[in-house]
Amino acid sequence: MMTCLCGQKHGIGRRMLLASAVAAALPASTRNAWAQPAPASAGPADPALIEDLVAGNHILYDQGVVDGFGHISVRHDKDPSRYLLSRSMAPALVTADDIMEYDLDSTPVDARGRTSYLERFIHGEIYKLRPDVTAIVHSHSPGVLPFADTGVALRPMNHIASFLGEGAPIFEIRDAAGPASDMLIRNAALGHALALTLGKKSVALMRGHGSIAAAHSIRHVVFRAIYTEVNAHTQAEAMKLGTPQFLNAEEAAAATKANDGLVGRPWELWKRRPMGK
Ligand code: MN
Repeated sequence: MMTCLCGQKHGIGRRMLLASAVAAALPASTRNAWAQPAPASAGPADPALIEDLVAGNHILYDQGVVDGFGHISVRHDKDPSRYLLSRSMAPALVTADDIMEYDLDSTPVDARGRTSYLERFIHGEIYKLRPDVTAIVHSHSPGVLPFADTGVALRPMNHIASFLGEGAPIFEIRDAAGPASDMLIRNAALGHALALTLGKKSVALMRGHGSIAAAHSIRHVVFRAIYTEVNAHTQAEAMKLGTPQFLNAEEAAAATKANDGLVGRPWELWKRRPMGK
């Protein structure tokens, strides 16, 4: 134990906090010298996967799910312990050259001076807990926020949004970071806590922040992120009129199965406009 200037005795936790504050104050070159070596690359990803990831970035902007903020990732096709995510930039401007490779601790394989999204831990920590998940979207889409902030359950209004039938839990960052965080998923511990809230579901809301969607392909996750936003608007409208009748669990499960092979149809439509085709 040590006695602090405030007159109280603090244990190791306080000293570690001080040490990290000192490290953060050092020039980047000094900090980098202490850093772990970069993880090995899984090699070049399938160009078609990169193309879909770039398209997903543009589509999510075009459909009003992301704006200047938000991101989409995909697991590397050659190695499930690597994922691909744009460098820190607005999704609508992403090109293939902006795609970076990360390990599941969200350490870049070859940053080459490119800046990473602060909240990349959302992706790495969900991939760690969910081997079935291949693609993830994080957004601040405006229709979903009223549900995240009121705690009103987001539920499927129609068969297209049937994936919401399993529930969309709400992540409360105060439970993981205390009452004075900046709301961001800025480290692995917060990413892990968010991944635990998501559990086996497809969508989780983040109080005071936004939401995440997870799926087994880029097309499926884009579909879910878009229809989560659409469903939120529809449900809010319905709740002004009365008490909505939602899909029940059996209807939702059956519709999700039916929709699984249909995501290609809207994908081609969504892709045409933002990709200039
Ligand atoms: Mn965010």
